[in-house]
Amino acid sequence: MTLPTLPTLAFHMNRKQRRAMAKEAKEDGQEDLSEKMILFGKLGDACLICEKSFDKKNKEMVMSWNVVVREEEVRLYCPECWDRARGIVEDFKERIENKNA
Ligand SMILES: [Zn+2]
Repeated sequence: MTLPTLPTLAFHMNRKQRRAMAKEAKEDGQEDLSEKMILFGKLGDACLICEKSFDKKNKEMVMSWNVVVREEEVRLYCPECWDRARGIVEDFKERIENKNA
C-alpha cells in the first residue's frame, strides 16, 4: 500500500504563504505540487476515525499523523488509527495469500 503524503513543510505555512507557493509551483509547471497545496487547504483538524483533534502547529503531531490524498479528498489519521488500519490491511493480505497458497 503506497500512499502519497503532503510535504510536512506545508503544515507550517499560513494560507497566504501556501497560496503563493502553489502559484509559484504552477508557474514552474509543477502542477502536481500546486494541486497538493490546494488540497492542504482542505485539511481537517481531527482524525477521521476517532475524531481526536489535530494541531497543525504541533510539530510532533505533524510528523506522526498521516495524510492521505485521494483525488479531491484529504483524509487525516492519527497514528493509533493509522496503525490499526495498516494492521487490518496486513491481516487481510495475509489471509488472501494463505488462501491462494
Ligand atoms: Zn484516530
